[in-house]
Amino acid sequence: MSEFDVIIVGAGAAGLMCAARAGRRGRKVLLVDHAKKPGEKIRISGGGRCNFTNIGAGPQNFLSENRHFAKSALARFTPADFIAMVDRYGIAWHEKTLGQLFCDGSAKEIIAMLLAECEAGNVEIRLETPVTALEHSADRFRLSLDGMPASARTLVIATGGKSIPKMGATGFAYEVAERFGIRVIEPRPGLVPFTLDPGLQSELQPLAGIGVPVEVSCGKGQFNEAMLFTHRGLSGPAVLQVSSYWSPGDTVMVKIRPDIELADVLTAAKRENGRQGAASALATQLPKRLAQYFADRAGMTGHLADLSDKALARLADSIQDWRFKPAGTEGYRTAEVTLGGIDTKALSSRTMEARAVPGLYFIGECVDVTGWLGGYNFQWAWASGVAAGDAI
Ligand code: FAD
Repeated sequence: MSEFDVIIVGAGAAGLMCAARAGRRGRKVLLVDHAKKPGEKIRISGGGRCNFTNIGAGPQNFLSENRHFAKSALARFTPADFIAMVDRYGIAWHEKTLGQLFCDGSAKEIIAMLLAECEAGNVEIRLETPVTALEHSADRFRLSLDGMPASARTLVIATGGKSIPKMGATGFAYEVAERFGIRVIEPRPGLVPFTLDPGLQSELQPLAGIGVPVEVSCGKGQFNEAMLFTHRGLSGPAVLQVSSYWSPGDTVMVKIRPDIELADVLTAAKRENGRQGAASALATQLPKRLAQYFADRAGMTGHLADLSDKALARLADSIQDWRFKPAGTEGYRTAEVTLGGIDTKALSSRTMEARAVPGLYFIGECVDVTGWLGGYNFQWAWASGVAAGDAI
């Protein structure tokens, strides 16, 4: 039986950070993962450049049943702390938009940095190693790792959520929690494109590929970003953001081009050149195909001069107060994150340790703390990993 101070399951963002911190503090750490390589989601993140943090990240950017839970960890390991680490390794980065920081080169540099930190902490990493059995007695966790026994006083679960099963995502963290009587808030896909009813989908099909700035809202979520029409439904940052606030049956409200009042644009166009059609007037502000779609949908094929201001206001409303009910989402297949997870009431917000099971920790995406799109989810992975790694 190999003995360790700490066994961490899951060599993703949170697990690597936690392992490095605990290792550097002199703990004997074993980090295991069933995948072939560590940090696979880091590698594909941000289009291969990893949006590794957001300079404005704070508790307000996260969804959780307990919106106070993330405060402590986020305050003790901030975006500036992660940037300092990235700078120490000479990794070049830039701010893209809305405080989102990306590597200039490749996301692989972030993985290499975390692996170097693990090496400095003498962390033993075993890949392609599934946990085949788990027992807890006499203050020790005994695991069978692909048939090999290993034990530790501390077990950290960092296996993430269910998003992108093709990349090895599993519900392992939830199974472990349930086994120890810890409540799991029903996991569901977040930051995910919407699908539409077949009727609406075929109507919007010709618009696939068009992106447009929108203000989108649903429940408590409201975002000003781009929306993208796709062959499968609606996507783009605005839609991904609001999807985390959506529940089946909810209506989503969209204001296309929130920076202008389209009713004013249309009435001014009517005054200036009444012989043009509504579609051409709209096309000065919207992509041409989109302008044509809304004009056709409203049955406005004649000259602007022949349309009342009221009719033009109705047309503008159909574009700037557009409401629809998504049929669903694309699900875990494409969701960037998993909402819900380990109930934060069961964990210490300082250390991520389970209150009822001393020595058992949950960190990262498996916990019921989910960030917006834009580097927030990695910031939570780093911060919760540090909180546990410094406490072990
Ligand atoms: P993960 O990074 O998912 O790591 C979990 C690890 O556990 C994996 O290595 C997995 O193989 C392993 N594992 C799972 N089950 C088992 C098991 N049963 N046994 C052993 N090992 C197991 N967030 C951002 O902030 N910025 C971005 O740019 C960004 N881009 C993204 C792009 C995509 C396409 C996706 C899917 C997500 C993106 N995210 C981004 C979200 C971010 O990747 C996650 O929130 C983050 O990786 C969570 O870290 P984690 O360590 O908790 O889980």
